[in-house]
Amino acid sequence: MSSQNETTVVVGAGHAGAELVAALRQQGYAGRIILIGDEPELPYRRPPLSKAYLSGEVDRDSLQIRSATAYDKLQVECWTGTEVCAIDRQQRSVMLGDGRTQGYDHLVLATGGRPRRLTDPAAQKANVHYIRTLADIDRLKADFVDGRRLLVIGGGYIGLEAAAVGIKSGLAVTVLEAAPRLLARVAAPEISAFYERAHSSRGVDVRTAVSVESFGGDERVESVRLSDGSELQVDLVIVGIGILPNDDLAREAGLEVDNGIFVDSYAKTSIDPRILAVGDCARHVNGFLGKFVRIESVPSAQEQARTAAATICGKPVAHVAVPWFWSDQFDLKLQMVGLSEGYDKLVLRGDLASESFSAFYLRGNVVLSADAVNRPQDFMVAKRLVAERVSVNPQALADESIALKSLLG
Ligand SMILES: Cc1cc2nc3c(=O)[nH]c(=O)nc-3n(C[C@H](O)[C@H](O)[C@H](O)COP(=O)(O)OP(=O)(O)OC[C@H]3O[C@@H](n4cnc5c(N)ncnc54)[C@H](O)[C@@H]3O)c2cc1C
Repeated sequence: MSSQNETTVVVGAGHAGAELVAALRQQGYAGRIILIGDEPELPYRRPPLSKAYLSGEVDRDSLQIRSATAYDKLQVECWTGTEVCAIDRQQRSVMLGDGRTQGYDHLVLATGGRPRRLTDPAAQKANVHYIRTLADIDRLKADFVDGRRLLVIGGGYIGLEAAAVGIKSGLAVTVLEAAPRLLARVAAPEISAFYERAHSSRGVDVRTAVSVESFGGDERVESVRLSDGSELQVDLVIVGIGILPNDDLAREAGLEVDNGIFVDSYAKTSIDPRILAVGDCARHVNGFLGKFVRIESVPSAQEQARTAAATICGKPVAHVAVPWFWSDQFDLKLQMVGLSEGYDKLVLRGDLASESFSAFYLRGNVVLSADAVNRPQDFMVAKRLVAERVSVNPQALADESIALKSLLG
């Protein structure tokens, strides 16, 4: 059990940090808890940034994960607008941007990630936007005006979500993807083709296997020349080409880092057991997958946070959660569970043309992962099929006259 005299410092007031501080109290942590975040806001929900917040359907206040009063009740000190600049492992303290230092008994790095940026100097303009924080969206919204020509660079989830909101908001939208298909890293070719059709039929100009050769314009980017020789006139650009984990603090403190901070299945760093890492910044051992992974999703950040809290409270439980994720584009609600890597068969249940179907990724007959589009009930069962590594009959899986639940055995 923790003593009242000890202090846990959490660096990063995002999804993982917010979950961690509450989980510590739920699990009986009696010490001091300090949540330090460099953004001015208390922790807020990031997924709506590229969805309902960008479209204006929800306001800023509704994004807050928990009120200031709730943190007071939990006896959690929130130091917002405060950057942690360095870790002194010998002194067991962190250095803050304002020159102060703060000691810790346990330190949790929940620093998330930052957007991968374009390096071309001609792309460093005010109308080239990235999507990670509330401030990013507030800046973008001023440019996100009916009738403007929006170029989205990157056909991943965030780019496609922003494209969908762009169409809904009356912008003329082009999506550029350098790979031969959308969502190439995460989805089967059939699902990529489905999303390409869904976007094209709703007015997005989707261009794959093409990239930007050069940006034109003085104060703002006004045009782009593409690798296929064509040129586009643009009013604003959104870049969605992935994130880089914020692992510099850990690297500079001598912790093991490679595209994320290495931690075991209890969220502990390999070198210093007093330092843990969770969320987008952590390359963690997921017991279910049996390997190191770095996963960028809210459910994973929250699960890892609960694991870290249990470790700090002296009740370690290995992290074995099955990863899952969601994405909303137009009226298409996609939910995904598991990782499809290594699949050898895709089984479709339902009709792609109806825009309500599930896709199951199988290795042999074992369900590795699933994508459910507008099928929340299928998704609930799919989670169990994946978690329990159920071996299924592919014909039965595709047959809608057979209840999916019956395949659970
Ligand atoms: C636009 C968008 C849409 C998304 N949609 C979905 C979705 O639909 N479903 C889903 O599951 N996931 C989605 N995600 C991913 C999800 O938001 C992340 O996986 C999640 O936020 C990870 O939580 P985290 O706490 O690890 O990192 P974050 O939420 O990024 O929080 C990290 C915090 O740490 C702060 N920080 C970093 N370094 C320091 C420092 N040195 N000192 C102090 N503070 C620091 C950062 O500024 C940030 O506030 C989306 C992400 C974005 C950006």
